[in-house]
Amino acid sequence: MNGVLIDSCVLLDLFTNDSHWADWSETILEQYSRTNTLYINSIIYTEISIGFDRVEEVEEAIESLGIKVLEMPREALFLTGKAFVKYQRNKGTQNSPLPDFFIGAHASVSQFTLMTRDLSKYKTYFPQVELIHPAQCSITTKRSFKFMQCPCQSKKSYNECCEPYHNGEPAPTAETLMRSRYSAYGLKDDKYLYKSWSKTTRPSKKSLRQNQNTEWLGLTIVRTEQGTIFDSEGVVEFIARYQENGQEQQIHEVSRFIRENGKWVYLEGEYKIEQ
Ligand SMILES: [Zn+2]
Repeated sequence: MNGVLIDSCVLLDLFTNDSHWADWSETILEQYSRTNTLYINSIIYTEISIGFDRVEEVEEAIESLGIKVLEMPREALFLTGKAFVKYQRNKGTQNSPLPDFFIGAHASVSQFTLMTRDLSKYKTYFPQVELIHPAQCSITTKRSFKFMQCPCQSKKSYNECCEPYHNGEPAPTAETLMRSRYSAYGLKDDKYLYKSWSKTTRPSKKSLRQNQNTEWLGLTIVRTEQGTIFDSEGVVEFIARYQENGQEQQIHEVSRFIRENGKWVYLEGEYKIEQ
């Protein structure tokens, strides 16, 4: 089990039922708690206690989330001081170390991943600490996307849906390959788009480089023909929506898939013009 240190803001959002962030906090805590041990330290405890009237309530709230409270190691306290010195040299205005310094130093020394919403101080003073934060959980970063919903909108998590195919496992059907290619567009995985395209029709690697400004918004499978585990050819008709330069657009395509060396690959597609 890996350790994740939970920053005060993430817990306060949840405890105060913040209209904007509570859902994110709840989802991400639930997802990470499955494969990680969740921790806070005394500083975080102090900060979150502000939201409660009695100490028993704080205890109950953190226990219900399976969070363990750790004391800060001396090395982390030492590193806090060092970060504060650096902060003062950068003309920081506070006269004593900020909670962020204690939290960042603790994550750094104990090699915890830090779950937070406030990035700036951690990025500046503890660049070595791995962060879990909302922007990183967007569609464009693969690693933290693992436990989030798959971009192909299958309602499964990415690691239970398209990730195995992106990591080399063969897609069993034409539709799963199509979905994994859609997800690869979302994740800007050009290599996968190239690999999953028939050798006979694929464009150059260079031309597959993804536009970083394109945001993929959703996929609807309209119909499929053949393409099962027993077939060697298949058709998938789909609508993929995306946003580019602030404009929402969509592709409606009938794609053909074949097997190459036993593996499904994309052969070609035909656009459908909307009536
Ligand atoms: Zn998927």
